[in-house]
Amino acid sequence: MSHFLDAVAAIVGATHVLTLPEDTAPFTLDYRRRYQGQPLAVVLPGTTAEVAALLQLCQRQQVAVVPQGGNTSTCGAATPDGSGRQLVVAMQRLNRLRAIDTANNSITVEAGMTLATLQQRAAEADRLFPLSLASEGSCQIGGNLSTNAGGLAVLRYGTMRELTLGLEVVLPDGRVLHQLSGLRKDTSGLDVKQLFIGAEGQLGLITAATLKLFPLPTAHATAWLGVDSSQAAIDLLSALRQAFGDRLTTFEIMSQPCQQLLEKYHPGQLPFIQPWAVLIELSDSGDSHRLQQQLVDWLSTQQLADGVLAHSEAERQQLWQLREAMSETQKRDGASIKHDIGVPSSAIPAFLADCEAALRAAFPSVRIIAFGHAGDGNLHYNISYTRPDNAELFADEERVNAIVYDLVYQHQGTLAAEHGIGQLKGHWLQRYQDPVALQLMQGVKQLLDPQGLMNPGKWLSPARSDTSG
Ligand SMILES: Cc1cc2nc3c(=O)[nH]c(=O)nc-3n(C[C@H](O)[C@H](O)[C@H](O)COP(=O)(O)OP(=O)(O)OC[C@H]3O[C@@H](n4cnc5c(N)ncnc54)[C@H](O)[C@@H]3O)c2cc1C
Repeated sequence: MSHFLDAVAAIVGATHVLTLPEDTAPFTLDYRRRYQGQPLAVVLPGTTAEVAALLQLCQRQQVAVVPQGGNTSTCGAATPDGSGRQLVVAMQRLNRLRAIDTANNSITVEAGMTLATLQQRAAEADRLFPLSLASEGSCQIGGNLSTNAGGLAVLRYGTMRELTLGLEVVLPDGRVLHQLSGLRKDTSGLDVKQLFIGAEGQLGLITAATLKLFPLPTAHATAWLGVDSSQAAIDLLSALRQAFGDRLTTFEIMSQPCQQLLEKYHPGQLPFIQPWAVLIELSDSGDSHRLQQQLVDWLSTQQLADGVLAHSEAERQQLWQLREAMSETQKRDGASIKHDIGVPSSAIPAFLADCEAALRAAFPSVRIIAFGHAGDGNLHYNISYTRPDNAELFADEERVNAIVYDLVYQHQGTLAAEHGIGQLKGHWLQRYQDPVALQLMQGVKQLLDPQGLMNPGKWLSPARSDTSG
């Protein structure tokens, strides 16, 4: 081991410094297998004090740090470069529950706790932590914060930005920001914790968070509905909000090609195929039967092409499994160019129509798989070719992206609604983000990490060629 790694081992213990390729392998390849890195080592700190000592050492020795949570980023945000000189700091040992305050509806956990464990801890206290993602068994709270994760219940509860009350963060120079406050009102200056939410590990290392909890719903009403057009889906969203207010928790849409893919790989499980399918869920206190009856009565007044309601928990899970199977089903069908875009919900129909027309004009054999969280405007808008050989697809990626992103911004949208920017979309961010916003972000980076040691090579941190190990 080098002198530097001896010093790292003195901080975290030699068994928590991984250098053998077979040990570091799970930390060096991203989820989508697009980025392969080679780290100096992977370090597993166990306390905030160890993280602080580690970052101080890295700053003294000019060693770049790549924070890593569950490594489920879909844009290479947590993958080191290939230089062999970046230190991956993996947070899985910092995974304790520090406090739960049911009267304040808040919980304080360390950043390496997985999202599924946090949901479980909250449920044990008869509370809900509402963030819910298909990757929840692996992704960690630090990663959720650093990507401002969203998911299936943003419509009602918001993203990680809205769910966070306080943070503990180790800054690149080893100082620790202690703001694990459970306060819901605080006018004592700027809300500095928000700087670290969505920063993708480029401003500091989050070690703990105080998060909001909610009453655990006891009643659910879940339905799979068919509508004739995306406009009909958005009209339904608006009417449901008006009728059920905050009880509308989920509103997911799937285009006809999505339903056809589900039918291909999960035959006989879809209730029907319609131009658009909508999965809705209401949640409340009280009992499910009453809520389901309210929904049935209301739906009977609406113009729908088709619809089924879940009458039991097993039927509810079946409908959810269909929605959650969408990503994996698409993967089985071959490669696609993926977009995680957002537009105001009201703009979804116009965006879909404009984008399909533009893509078909440029690429006649294009196949568009559009699905996602229409309740908050976030769509997974994935492109492949219908021709048997999909190999040419990635050669056209930049042109496809330019068409999609131009139209996203014409419709006042964003190119990264929940998955972040990472290594994948930095150049697109430079092109589309408001220039003043970009200057402010660079200013904050300069203030907190003037030497550019935190997660270099990602969108806020140019690659460094001078780091040494
Ligand atoms: C099947 C699947 C489904 C998904 N569905 C959704 C979804 O519905 N909604 C959604 O928002 N995302 C989704 N994602 C994307 C991904 O799961 C989220 O971005 C998640 O929040 C990342 O958490 P992680 O712990 O895996 O972070 P990582 O991938 O390890 O890291 C992500 C970023 O956070 C930084 N980071 C990690 N931990 C820390 C820390 N403690 N301090 C500072 N920086 C840190 C890393 O450096 C990196 O920049 C999905 C991914 C998959 C594979």
